[in-house]
Amino acid sequence: MSNNTNMVPESYPMNGGDGSNSYTKNSYFQRAGTNAMKAIIDDVIAEKLDVEKQISSSKSTLRIADLGCSVGPNTFIAMQNIIDAVQQKYQSHGFASHMPEFQVFFNDHTSSDFNTLFASLPPERPYFATGVPGSFHGRLFPDFSLDFVHSSFALQWLSKVPEELLNKNSAAWNKGRVHYASAPDEVAQAYTAQFAKDITTFLDGRAKELVVGGLMVLIMPGIPNGIPHSSSATGLMFDFLGHCLMDMAKEGLISEVQVDSFNLPIYVASPKEMTQLVERNGCFSIERMEMTQPWARVDDLSGQACTMHLRAGMEGIISKHFGTEIIDELFDRYCKKHGEIIGLLESKLNEGNQLFIVLKRI
Ligand code: SAH
Repeated sequence: MSNNTNMVPESYPMNGGDGSNSYTKNSYFQRAGTNAMKAIIDDVIAEKLDVEKQISSSKSTLRIADLGCSVGPNTFIAMQNIIDAVQQKYQSHGFASHMPEFQVFFNDHTSSDFNTLFASLPPERPYFATGVPGSFHGRLFPDFSLDFVHSSFALQWLSKVPEELLNKNSAAWNKGRVHYASAPDEVAQAYTAQFAKDITTFLDGRAKELVVGGLMVLIMPGIPNGIPHSSSATGLMFDFLGHCLMDMAKEGLISEVQVDSFNLPIYVASPKEMTQLVERNGCFSIERMEMTQPWARVDDLSGQACTMHLRAGMEGIISKHFGTEIIDELFDRYCKKHGEIIGLLESKLNEGNQLFIVLKRI
């Protein structure tokens, strides 16, 4: 067995439990993304999953991992969609009698609320459920033990904030901002380099863990090729969050130094960047790589809805840095000012903001 090289990284879990600010209740943007991908995933499995190989290997269990699963319910929907598509493929190819059993590995950081996840597992699920704690930037599974890997809205999280951003003497010191979207090039370059390192370790790990022929579906925020970072929908929202924090600093509610030393470890990649990183790794063929715009289907882009979405994902990391006392005030401000960006946000969402990738282990 290989050594588990998992380090203990910084982790920023989504809001746990099932209260009004929880991820469970406020992740319908991601759910819209997952739902919009169902038809594409059906196609991918119908076309690319090698059922004959699975049968001839006489393995009776098909192992699926969801990396960065959070607390549900989106992960349950995604896993059910995959299993439905696999079962459909076995049936349509006349292999119903060889139907495998399914094991699903739910992975997230150790600090994620696994209790909520396990307590809400669908009672009628067609799979054995297993929790796998730890960072997907390290090894999580034995060699060649997975048949299918899925990860949605998780790979944009960097393993850490690039160090240069906190160094006052560096050109990448990110004063007065919390993200790279409209920052000087040096800041964006530091983020790009950290993202490249993280995706490299992610792909190295999965290359060892997936069987040859195994599929990996990655869904993540994305930016079309050739568009400046400042123009992405995600960048727009984070810039705006930074402005709200700076307003609070100017009013003395928090200190400016606190804002200067706070940066969101989130990166939005383009298809071109991901293609280069996958090619550099060399263990996967790119079966599909496309930008989609699932959020264009989200009806409710109101201030309230967008704020709750942002809060469910960002509250943990913001309160760790600034303290919990500022959270209500910050998101109230965000909500009230949302009208200023909604027009622009809608147009960005329509340009495509989600990257859908299918890789095959070769
Ligand atoms: N896949 C779910 C949840 C997305 S939220 C959905 O589509 O709705 C992103 C999740 O990724 C969070 O729960 C976060 O803790 C997890 N995550 C981020 N970085 C991670 C890492 N390095 N290892 C494991 N999980 C990670």
